Amino acid sequence: MQYHLNGFRSGDPNCANLSETMTARADTVDVAIIGCGPAGLTLAAQLATIGGISVRIFDRKSRPLEVGQADGVACRSMEMFEAFGFVEKVLKEAYWVNETTFWRTGTDGAGLARADRIQDVEDALSHQPHVILSQARIHDFYLDIMRNGSGTIDPDYSRNLAEVKFCDDSKSLIFLNFECLDSPGKHETVCARYVVGCDGARSTVRTILGHELKGHAARQLWGVMDVLAVTDFPDIRLKCAVQSARSGSLLIIPREGGYLVRLYIELDELRGAERASDREVTSELLERKAREILFPYTFDVREVAWWSAYEIGQRVCDAFDDVPAGERSSRIPRIFIAGDACHTHSPKAGQGMNVSMADTFNLGWKLAAVIRGQARPELLHTYSEERRAKAKELIDFDRDMARLFSEKPSSTKETAQFQRYFQKHGRYTAGVETTYDRSLIVGAPEHQGMATGLRMGTRFHSAPVIRLADAKPMQLSEALAADGRFRIVAFADRNDDGGPDGRIAALCRFLGSDPCSPVLRHTPQDADPDAVIDFRVVFQKSHRQLDLNAMPGILLPAKGKLGLTDYEKIFCADPRAGTDIFDMRGVDRETGVLIVVRPDQFVAQLLPIDEYMALSDFFGGILIIQHRFQPVTAISAHGVDREH
Ligand code: FAD
Repeated sequence: MQYHLNGFRSGDPNCANLSETMTARADTVDVAIIGCGPAGLTLAAQLATIGGISVRIFDRKSRPLEVGQADGVACRSMEMFEAFGFVEKVLKEAYWVNETTFWRTGTDGAGLARADRIQDVEDALSHQPHVILSQARIHDFYLDIMRNGSGTIDPDYSRNLAEVKFCDDSKSLIFLNFECLDSPGKHETVCARYVVGCDGARSTVRTILGHELKGHAARQLWGVMDVLAVTDFPDIRLKCAVQSARSGSLLIIPREGGYLVRLYIELDELRGAERASDREVTSELLERKAREILFPYTFDVREVAWWSAYEIGQRVCDAFDDVPAGERSSRIPRIFIAGDACHTHSPKAGQGMNVSMADTFNLGWKLAAVIRGQARPELLHTYSEERRAKAKELIDFDRDMARLFSEKPSSTKETAQFQRYFQKHGRYTAGVETTYDRSLIVGAPEHQGMATGLRMGTRFHSAPVIRLADAKPMQLSEALAADGRFRIVAFADRNDDGGPDGRIAALCRFLGSDPCSPVLRHTPQDADPDAVIDFRVVFQKSHRQLDLNAMPGILLPAKGKLGLTDYEKIFCADPRAGTDIFDMRGVDRETGVLIVVRPDQFVAQLLPIDEYMALSDFFGGILIIQHRFQPVTAISAHGVDREH
C-alpha cells in the first residue's frame, strides 16, 4: 500500500478523502446506482476508489443489510477483495472451506454414510481461498471503502425507484423518480448521465428496459437457516452435501465464528404463479426436515439466527443494457443492469453474490474511463457482451448442478457421477474459469505460447515475486489494485538485468519517449506518468543481482506534487519454493513476454516485448489520445535526470 505521495499525513492511511469535497446528494450526477446489494456496492466502491466521478446509490431498504442472504465467497471474489484492499479482514473473519464431504444413505438402505471427502479447491487455482462470510459483512467492507475513497459515497436509503426516463430537454441525462419511503407521499428526483440497475431479481430498471429473465420455468424452493445447534453429525464443521434416499437433500455450510452453521434444505418446486410465501414455510418445518435428513444423527437447534424460504430459478436476460441488438453500432449504452437483475442462480453453486460482484467489477472501470474522458464510449458495449455470455455459461452449469443435486441417487454410480461433476466444475465455482472472448479489449491469442499460464481473456493469475527496492516477498496481484488503471507487465528474458543494452531498457525508451508510446499518448498532461497505464517489470534474475539505481527512469517515475520517486514498479522472480513465476505461468524464459492487464485484472493482450506498434495499436483502439509528448523522466539518487 502506498501513501504520503502528496505530503505526510498521520492517521489511518485507508481514509484518502479527508480533504475532498462530498460528491453525494447532488441532484445531477454522473452515475446513479439502484440497489445496495453486492452488485451496487462493488460498483460504488470501484467508482469511489477511482475518484473524480459523482455518484449516488439508492436502496428502498431503510438501512444496510444486517443478516442473511448469500455467504459463499469464491476465490476470484477474494482476489477482487485483495484489489480493493480489504481481503485481510475477510480472511481473518471468514470460515475457510478446505474440504467438502458427501454423505448418502448407507449401503443397507438405512442411516447415512460418508461417501467421499475431497479437497474443496484444486491446488494452485488461486492464491486466495474459498471462504464463507455473511453478505452483510461484505457490504460493510464496501461501505467503508465508499466512505473512505477519494470521493465519498454515502447511500440514500428508503428511496424506492418508481420511474426512469430520458430527460426531454437533454437526451444526455436520465431522469429518475424515487418515492421517499421515510416521508410518505414525498418524491425525490435525480438526473444522471448513466444509470445502473443493481436492484435484484425483481428489478424495476429491468422492467422499465423491457428485458425479461428467461430460462427454466420451474422455480426451486429452498429453505435456508443459520443456526446454533448441538449435533453428533461428525462433519458439521465441513462443507457437506447430504443426499438421503427418503428424506431429501441438504447442504451444510459451516459459518464464520466457529459455532454458526447454515443449512440449505431442498423443498419442492413452485408451480405457476405460486410464491415462496404461499407454502407457509416456517423455521420449525425447516428444523424438522433437517432432523429427518440427518437421521440417525441428532440435530438440536438452540437458536435460529436467520432463516428464509428462498425461491430461485436459473434465468438470464437477453441483454444487460438499454441498446437493442440492431442499434449497437449507432448507440452507446446509458442504462445497465447487473447482478440478480439480469441473472439468477440456485444457491447450491454459491454463485449469486459472486457473479453479481463480478458484473460490476467489469462495468465500473469502463464507466469511469468513459466518464473521465480516457476511453472511447464504445467500450461500454463490452459490458453486456462479456457479462451476458458468462452469465449464460454459468447458468447452464448451475442448472446441471441443481438437477444432479435434486436427483435422489439410487446407486453408488450415480453418487459418484455427482461428485465427479462437482469436482470438475470446481473451477467454475471458484470463479477463475471466466474467459472473455476476443474484442476491443481482448486481443488475439497468437502469442499465447509465450505465456501458457496467463491465458488471454482470463484473470491475471498471480504468483509470488520479490519487490526489488525493498526485497518484499509478495503476490504480484498486490500491485494490481482496483484503481481503474491498465497495466503493462513485462516479463524480462533470461539475461536481461535492466541494463541499457537489454530489451527491457529498449521497451522503457519506447514507452518513456517515443511519440507512439501508449503511456505518453493516453496520459493527460498534468497527471502522474502512470495515471492511466501503470508499467511494471518482472526480472528473472535475483533481486540481489540487480542494481535499482541503474534501472530505466520510467521504472522509477517521479510522481505527485512533491515529485517523489515510485519505487514499487520492479519485481524479481522468487525462487524459494523451487519454482518461480516464470515456470508457474509458463512464461518463455528466453524471450520474456509483455502482458497488458485490464483494470479488472483480466489479460487483455499478450505480445513479444518488442512489438511496440502492436502495443500502441491495442491501446489506440480503447483509449483516447491525450497528447502527452514530454518524455517521462526520473530523478536518480544523484539528482540527475535519466531517461534510458
Ligand atoms: P440484491 O442483493 O438482491 O440487491 C438488490 C438491492 O436492490 C436490494 O437491496 C433491494 O432492496 C434494492 N432494490 C430493489 N428494487 C429497488 C427499487 N425499486 N428501488 C430501490 N432499491 C431497490 N444467495 C445465496 O447464495 N444463498 C442464500 O441463502 C441466499 N439467500 C437469499 C435470500 C434473500 C431473501 C435474497 C433476496 C437473496 C438471497 N440470495 C442468496 C441471493 C444473493 O443474495 C444474491 O444473488 C445477491 O445478493 C445478488 O446481489 P445483487 O446486488 O444483484 O442484488
